[in-house]
This record gives sequence, structure tokens and C-alpha cells, in this order.
Amino acid sequence: MSQRIHNFSAGPGALPLPVLQSAQRNLVNYEGSGMSLMEMSHRSAIYDDIHNACITDLRTLLGLSDDYEVLFMGGGARTQFALVAMNLLRPQRRAAYINTGTWAVGALREAKKSGDATLLWSSEETGHDRVPCDADWSLTGDEEYLHYTSNNTIFGTQYSGIPETGGVDLFCDMSSDILSRPVDTSRFALIYAGAQKNMGPAGVTLVIVRKDLLERCPDNLPEVMNYRLVAGKSSMLNTPPVFPIYMVGLVAKHLLDLGGLAEVGTTNQAKNDAIYSAIDGSGGFYTGHAQRDSRSQMNVTFRAGSDTLNQRFVAEATEAGMNGLKGHRSVGGLRASIYNAVPLGSVLALTDFMGEFARRNG
Ligand code: PMP
Repeated sequence: MSQRIHNFSAGPGALPLPVLQSAQRNLVNYEGSGMSLMEMSHRSAIYDDIHNACITDLRTLLGLSDDYEVLFMGGGARTQFALVAMNLLRPQRRAAYINTGTWAVGALREAKKSGDATLLWSSEETGHDRVPCDADWSLTGDEEYLHYTSNNTIFGTQYSGIPETGGVDLFCDMSSDILSRPVDTSRFALIYAGAQKNMGPAGVTLVIVRKDLLERCPDNLPEVMNYRLVAGKSSMLNTPPVFPIYMVGLVAKHLLDLGGLAEVGTTNQAKNDAIYSAIDGSGGFYTGHAQRDSRSQMNVTFRAGSDTLNQRFVAEATEAGMNGLKGHRSVGGLRASIYNAVPLGSVLALTDFMGEFARRNG
């Protein structure tokens, strides 16, 4: 295929074309070394530079202070659902979880296996169509941490701000909106994110943890699962996922070249304005799943009037070169994931198609 399609996949999602091209140029012979990066020791000077530059660039993009460690781990974000509690939820302490959908409740389920993790608030009754505001819940102040999911990939909801916890440590699964807009990382004690939406290919998970928390990681954990030990070895306790980390590094450099997260956020806002206007301006042909003040900037969940129309939409959009628009089975309808690497041009192609489809079927 000579031409790339418009990729609205929920994840693994689109990657920036210049990043893919750069990786392609270096795939067989990395920067004249005579080998692919995939064939090279992770202890080599070449890989060491890639590893450290990736961390430095992520730190710059996210404005991370020296109070935080940046870790690369395997096993995806779901592994972190368990590891967060195994490492940081001490016996006799209680953690609070907000359930805004499949991934949020998955995190709670895993945490319960290793400690006292409790549900603080849930959007289940209304089909996970919104995220809470701070007034919807309250903490006692004794909690070990509050865990939430900043962007709900499946339901298409997202927090516009950061929950105010009154001093309780804040933990966040940022898998599907990390690096999409500026964020005050100093408000968090722990952030984790699988790479495969905004950062790179699947295979590496970013964990950002405030250093003082590492003292609590229990010694009886498997070594590769212990944040303190992984941090102590700069994420090289075992062979790291070298190629995914390299790709994350290329993406981080690319975002810095674009002007950093403020610039990225402005572009994402323009993409959002276009697609939500297409939904709201359709005269009721399309309806959004999320309540307006909870709308996700990354995953736009919506539907046309019937299952038949939704299916036709997906089939015809695919025919027109647009991929990944079928809604998740637990929500139905349609979903357009417009991660960082989805260009405004792809979003405009979609909104044109939406308008034309509505005219033909309305
Ligand atoms: N959290 C969120 C918000 C997600 O979107 C996903 C995957 N779509 C996960 C966790 C699970 O990630 P992984 O497949 O990397 O375990």
C-alpha cells in the first residue's frame, strides 16, 4: 500500500510518520553501527544514550522535577494495576479508587488482591458517561492514595482538571492521554501509562513515581516488579524493551520539536473542536456518549440513530480509507480515537464524511 489510511484506532494507535520513517531508516543498520538496535546489547554505549535521552526528553516534556523517578517496565498498563498496590499500598492502610469504566475498575480489582482498596465513586449507573467533579466524593485524609483514570479510552470521558485530594497522594493511569496536553505533574505521586496510544509501540510502560514512595516497596516482591529495585538499576535490572523505548524516545523528540505539550494541546483542541462540532451540529443525527463537560479529547464516542446505521457508517468509512471507527462492544456505536499522531487533516476527512453520511441517511 503506497498511501497511509486515516487511523482512528483506539490503541495501538497512530504514530507520527516522521518517527516511523526515522526508525525505518535505521532499522537494519543503526546510525552506521552495522547492526539493528534490536541486535545490540542493552549495555552498549549506543543503547545507553538512547535510554537516557528518552528519559531526559520525557522529563522535559512533562516538566518532571528531580523528586521523581522515571521507569520503563514491561507487561502493559494492566500489570501496573497490580504492581501499584503490591508496591505502594501498605498493610493496615486503605486506598481509594474512582471507577469511571472498564480500566478504572480493572485497576481496583487488581489492587484488592494485595490490599485494602475500596471504591470511592462510580459512574456505572449512568453508563460511564461522565467523570466526577471533586464535590462528588470526599476522602477521610487517611487514605494511602487516590487512584483515578484520567482518560477513559472505551467510554470517551476525560477529566479536564486534576482531582484535589487535600494532601492524599494521587495516583493516575494516564495510558490514553499522556503527552496530549500540558499537565502539572507535581500534583501526582505516581503516574503510569502503556506506550501504545500517544508514546510508541506496545511493549513498554512508563511509570513515574515520587522517590520518597520507593521506601515502602516490600522486599518479598519479585525483583523485576519492585519499583525500588527497578529504579535503582535505571530500568535495566533485566533487559529492557529496547526497541519500544527507542521509539518512545523518537516520539518524545518529535513532540519537543513541535514545541512541546502546549503546542500539542493546541492542535488536539482544534481536532476536538472540529469533531464535536460535527456531532453537535448534525441536528441530532449523531449523539455523543459522554456528557459535554466530560468529553474526551482523545476518544470521541458517538452514535448514529440505529445499529444498522452505525454498521453502515463503519463499513463505508473503511471503504473511504478510515480505520478503527467501530465503538467498543461495551458502548456500541462509533469511536474515533484522535491521539496526538492523528493529523487535523484526518479529523477533517472524518467530519466531511460524517456530514455527507448524515445527508444521505438523515
Ligand atoms: N488503562 C487504559 C486507560 C487503557 O486504555 C488501557 C488499554 N487500552 C489499559 C489501561 C490497559 O493497557 P495494556 O493493554 O497496556 O495493559
